[in-house]
Amino acid sequence: MEDKSHPIDPSLLGDYPAEDDHELRGASAPRHHAAMLNIAPEMKQLAHGTHLKDMFVCHESVSYNRVGWGDINGLIDVLVREGYGIHGINDKDGHKAWAKGMGNAIFWHAGGVNERAVGVECVSEIPILLQSKKITRRQALDLWLSRHAQLSALAIQIACWHNSDQKRHPLVRSNGNERGITSHWNVSQHHPQSDGHWNCRPWDEGGHFPLAHVIELSKQMALLYEF
Ligand SMILES: [Zn+2]
Repeated sequence: MEDKSHPIDPSLLGDYPAEDDHELRGASAPRHHAAMLNIAPEMKQLAHGTHLKDMFVCHESVSYNRVGWGDINGLIDVLVREGYGIHGINDKDGHKAWAKGMGNAIFWHAGGVNERAVGVECVSEIPILLQSKKITRRQALDLWLSRHAQLSALAIQIACWHNSDQKRHPLVRSNGNERGITSHWNVSQHHPQSDGHWNCRPWDEGGHFPLAHVIELSKQMALLYEF
């Protein structure tokens, strides 16, 4: 049965490669333009100038897996109300939002690295379940690992950011104080003023978020997708 709640807008889809290209694999194959909802109109009012970027910060926000774009639209409302901003958002369904053309915009998302870093919010109920001790750290990891669509969405966002300037945007793990892909928790270890909400702490650093897994996935996605 057709799913009326998720209409596909053809304008959000990129051009498909010619059929012959299905035989091609690897870096030389043409990449698809990843479909993402453009949130630049909402984010414009939240930008504080521009700066070249060399860091990608993964964040978590709490939302309860609403149908369609509800999680993403709800988060945008919160950001606008509180004066924060963000380059990208993803949700459990694998929806991807990006502030198109604002890759160098300075948003307030991770104190200490706002100039050099883009940020993406990964929305779920996981951090609040963990904070209220309804689940263990291990269960939080397992919940994240079960959200294939969302992890793929984040990996595609990282991949597209990398492909937009491969030299300046390296697809490597960062400790939160150097170039590459990192988490809000990592940034907070170097910039305490950045702390204060859900922190996306990586599993292999005592947290629950599968950052290493996402980075490996991003390397594959970088062969397939670009903005
Ligand atoms: Zn954060």
